Amino acid sequence: MAAPSKLTDLHDLPTPDPESPYRSRKPYRFSTLCATVDNPFAKDQYGSSSVPIYQTATFKGVAGEYDYSRSGNPTRSHLEHHIAKISSAGHAFAVSSGMAALDIITRLLKPGDEVIAGDDLYGGTNRLLTYLKTNGGVTVHHVDTTVPENVLPHVKPGKTAMVLLESPTNPLLKIVDLAKIAADVKERAPDAVIVVDNTMMSPYCQRPLEYGADIVYDSATKYLSGHHDLMAGIITCNRDDLGKQMAFIINSVGNALTPFDSFLLLRGCKTLAIRMDRQQSTAMHVATMLDRLGFKVNYPGLPNHPGRAIHERIANGYGAVLSFTTGDKALSERIVGATRLWGISVSFGAVNSLISMPCVMSHASIDAATRAARGLPEDLIRLCVGIEDPEDLLDDLEHALLEAGAITVSANADEHQYVRATTSTSISRAVEKLAISEAPQRPRERREWFVSAPGKVILFGEHAVVHGVTAVAASVDLRCYGLTTPRHDGKLSVQFCDIDDFYAEWDVDQLPWDAVTPVSVGEEHPEALDQRLIDAINNRAMPADVDKSSKARGAALAFLYLYMVMAHGGERPSFNFTARSTLPIGAGLGSSASFSVCVATALLLLHQRIEIPPLPAPTREAGGGDPGHLHVSHQGRRAIPPSVAEEANRWAFVGEKILHGNPSGVDNSVSVYGGALAYTRAGFARKSGMEQISGFKSLRFLLTDSKVPRDTKKLVAGVSEMKEREPEVVNAILEAIQSISDEARRALADPELSREALLSAISALINENHAHLVSLGVSHASLEAIRAKTAQSAYKLSTKLTGAGGGGCAVTLVPDDIREELLQQLIAELLADNFQPYLTSVGGSGLGVLSPYGQDEPSTPPAEADEGDSYMTREPLRATFQEKAVRELSEWAESRGRWLYV
Ligand code: PLP
Repeated sequence: MAAPSKLTDLHDLPTPDPESPYRSRKPYRFSTLCATVDNPFAKDQYGSSSVPIYQTATFKGVAGEYDYSRSGNPTRSHLEHHIAKISSAGHAFAVSSGMAALDIITRLLKPGDEVIAGDDLYGGTNRLLTYLKTNGGVTVHHVDTTVPENVLPHVKPGKTAMVLLESPTNPLLKIVDLAKIAADVKERAPDAVIVVDNTMMSPYCQRPLEYGADIVYDSATKYLSGHHDLMAGIITCNRDDLGKQMAFIINSVGNALTPFDSFLLLRGCKTLAIRMDRQQSTAMHVATMLDRLGFKVNYPGLPNHPGRAIHERIANGYGAVLSFTTGDKALSERIVGATRLWGISVSFGAVNSLISMPCVMSHASIDAATRAARGLPEDLIRLCVGIEDPEDLLDDLEHALLEAGAITVSANADEHQYVRATTSTSISRAVEKLAISEAPQRPRERREWFVSAPGKVILFGEHAVVHGVTAVAASVDLRCYGLTTPRHDGKLSVQFCDIDDFYAEWDVDQLPWDAVTPVSVGEEHPEALDQRLIDAINNRAMPADVDKSSKARGAALAFLYLYMVMAHGGERPSFNFTARSTLPIGAGLGSSASFSVCVATALLLLHQRIEIPPLPAPTREAGGGDPGHLHVSHQGRRAIPPSVAEEANRWAFVGEKILHGNPSGVDNSVSVYGGALAYTRAGFARKSGMEQISGFKSLRFLLTDSKVPRDTKKLVAGVSEMKEREPEVVNAILEAIQSISDEARRALADPELSREALLSAISALINENHAHLVSLGVSHASLEAIRAKTAQSAYKLSTKLTGAGGGGCAVTLVPDDIREELLQQLIAELLADNFQPYLTSVGGSGLGVLSPYGQDEPSTPPAEADEGDSYMTREPLRATFQEKAVRELSEWAESRGRWLYV
């Protein structure tokens, strides 16, 4: 392949000979440049051969070159000089990671700018671009950049601000003609900045600045460092204007690389060429072997690679990452598990060889549907070749293929020794090895776990929230409860007592495991649901007689989906999950969210993804009749760690998506955190997100279910149509509702405001908000009847409808000083009119878990405990839990022991 070309134009090293007519002055070659880190303009005062680490934040004096290490540090400067030298660059910057490099680069964008990017980019790059799309007002066009013509329709002079390319792509090793795209774009939109992620190649194999790129960045965590012992990113460019802007951003943001990591990275760079030579050469051997065995191999060095000619025009090497498919995901898993020398890990570029399945690991953050759309096969195996002895690596891989049943000994003695097996012939030991190595002997769960979570009520801002107005929501003291009871008979069962006493049971091993893409511990579920798994559960696991649209079916689907994606390490716990609810189901009070929170928390505990830390010794209630009785209260015991709450909330949101399609995230957040919060959707001019209203004072409300079924989607669509028809009228209403939410939020959090003033302010805001909702056309006769009743002169209470539709509920503020008989009279009247009132308080605690660590229970099983025995001295809860009347449930649950709350 072509030798490095323009490398020394910018960073010439002194050569031994001066220019002469007889012997021309030859520039040094890449490996010499790599190993020679001298900077003629920054000589060490003692002539140290290794660049010293200036481990200092500050520098003394006022006129020196350095003053503060965020702005500049000699070790980092030395590294940057070296990187510029080997990258054909005028400017180089070293920052804290590859993603930090992209963050700096994308800060050059402004709202309204358009970006054209590849459709097969690194997962983290996609994530950042999606964030910018959602929050930064930037439009991103993802196109298949392997066909340069695909880019052109999106190039708009004055609008296209950046083109982001990667070649070869990871993990499919597709080739992008960087030079052609750069030239085409520049011709049409000269201001567009061409950015290339060069991580897969490193400057040794490819220097895109020589081919029209304006900015190049690398995750230096990979080849440049070469040892997986640091995280770093580098950015290079030749344009002074861009260099200046990025230097400014790095200094402002403060993510430049630390002195120690700069030293390590500089050290890694010295051996870049020699490492890459070895890694590429072995990669070629590996690719050839797999190709010969009949696998579909992606490696630009193979003669049959469709992009090979383009790649050879731009690069001087093929890199050391390759991928191949086997035709069977389970077979691929067995191969990965059967290797010994190839480490199972994400990332690449280190001296050690690695093997991985991108769809399960590095690219799991891209949802399954998008992966499929981008042609990312679920059975794809990626190999990242290191510097071990090539024979050992080939031998180990061959052994794994054999052990997994992917290849077999050829029957024909004239052929190669091994050939690809047509069917998986052997059950591999490797599967077990993988499971065991991931989760060695998890202890069986013998305890019952009892969890609960509250519903919510939207106090202000429903409907308007869809259009960017802030909504105020608070938890109600009606709750969903979930109880897991161990089975250990290989079965999983659910019982939903308050949804027609629904019961279903499954053989754990018969669930459609082939359709699941597990989410590793600590990872987040991808943004989109896995439709393949949903279909598989619906078609293959749901009892045939369950009505397709029934609530129980939705609840069972959410339960099974979460159970399956959370399973890890080959463990499939066997237990029963019973849910009860004191919340009306489907009445718009967040019953589905509180159910999701209970399911998510119970499953996180059973799959041992979270831990509830033991409590300090409990305080006993003074003067209580029963000396063993522990005081239990919904308030005050904030003992569930924030990380557990966050994890439960994230998974509950996934549950909500299954139950609801497109939830806002408010309901599950209120259910986990309790209290009250203000929520503003993203994508509008206002600051988006959720904020806890601190200091929220608990208020009493009468929640009345009108029992009129409402179609939320239709109601929401109706408001949108009205907004299109009469934008001025609707915008004025939305503005007014925003002021109501702001005012309510201020009042609820104001410590100076007297209780009386607070109640009167809230009461007025309720009336105002309801009037606006009527103007938006989302009320109905029964809600108005409830409102009229509560407003009668005997009561003079303020009522508004609540929620975007749901079950058509009304909320009535109950003043502290209302006479009890009067309240009971109102409740009786509402009941007589066939409404269902619930007297509640709002703003109480969120997710609760009954502590399994109370003083009266041993924290480890006694030696004689048998498999499946509950070792706790606590009475098993399930039978009573399932039988209790709804109205007794909350008191009974509270008296079971010490509840810990978020
Ligand atoms: N670009 C590519 C191609 C990568 O593979 C990675 C990391 O895997 C990154 C960027 C991000 O780099 P870092 O992990 O150093 O932030």
